[in-house]
Amino acid sequence: MTALRGSQPAVTCFGPARYSVEIREIGLPTIREDEVLLEVVNVGVCGSDLHMWLGDQSWTVPYPLVLGHEFSGIIRQCGSRVADRWQPGDRVVSETAAIIDPDSPLTRIGLYNLDPSRRGFGGHTDGSMTRLVAVPQRILHRVPAAVSMEEAALTEPCCVAYNAAVRNARIEPGDRVLILGPGPIGILCAAMARMQGAFVAIAGLPRDQVRLRIAKQYDCETLTENIEQWAFDGGPDGLGVDGVIDTTGVSASLQTAMKVVRPNGWISKVGWGPQPCDFSLDPIVLKNVRLQGSFSHHWSIWERVLQLVNSGRLNVKPIIGGVWPLDQWREAFETMHGGSIVKSVLQAN
Ligand SMILES: [Zn+2]
Repeated sequence: MTALRGSQPAVTCFGPARYSVEIREIGLPTIREDEVLLEVVNVGVCGSDLHMWLGDQSWTVPYPLVLGHEFSGIIRQCGSRVADRWQPGDRVVSETAAIIDPDSPLTRIGLYNLDPSRRGFGGHTDGSMTRLVAVPQRILHRVPAAVSMEEAALTEPCCVAYNAAVRNARIEPGDRVLILGPGPIGILCAAMARMQGAFVAIAGLPRDQVRLRIAKQYDCETLTENIEQWAFDGGPDGLGVDGVIDTTGVSASLQTAMKVVRPNGWISKVGWGPQPCDFSLDPIVLKNVRLQGSFSHHWSIWERVLQLVNSGRLNVKPIIGGVWPLDQWREAFETMHGGSIVKSVLQAN
């Protein structure tokens, strides 16, 4: 492939200090034979982008790093080995696993999200908050015609929620499930748990009123207090909820989860944060509770989520709080961080 000349603006995190993000010019990508050149259309802002902007993320970031991993786009060039499958003009979404070891034992069983050498767009390798990105064809999915590019950019958080609420939880119809945290992942977990046939409540803080109001559109109850009342008095036997999905990223919320889960129940933990815990984990033993982590997603989840969105069974539009051009990324970040919307989306081209 001939190398493209020139540069493009990219939302770049350049250091660990708070607010170390700015637009920087970066070189244009060159694609390999198994990659496509993607013209980014929309990029969702993730909680993890906000964490890097605030300098309080849980992992080591290789600075400088272009942010963004929730993106839809249009193929502009195809590498020689993928031209039979993809064509310029195709509308696609990309997964986040930019770099994996194809021979790792986890990749070989389809769980490349758990391959220790995986490096994700916008977290460990340059991401999509720019105009053109080289993407391996193995992580591309077609966007159904009825799905807008803005909606398609939300496929990634939907897949995080699907993994946490479907694959890594054990919801049966009629279960009572409590979701902790009304951010994008929490609300989407509520949507997934409803689709599984559970009775769902989502809990937040008093300042989360706007997000909780949006969560209500997914046919779940919303709580700012009285969590224990819903968990114990709201059920048939006062023993607690069947499952808790913790999306908060605050370690202390595990204490709430352990308290309200019933004996032989489960906790699916998808939010993560670096704070140590200063409480006993004994309730997990005493109640015989399954504590299950949930990380990222993989190919089969993406295909299902796109069908759910395409069919209308999963409506992501209430999650989108606004669309900003790339150069107004700061306003998009601040508005989302302020909690007056659930998610910001950037328009890259
Ligand atoms: Zn994300």
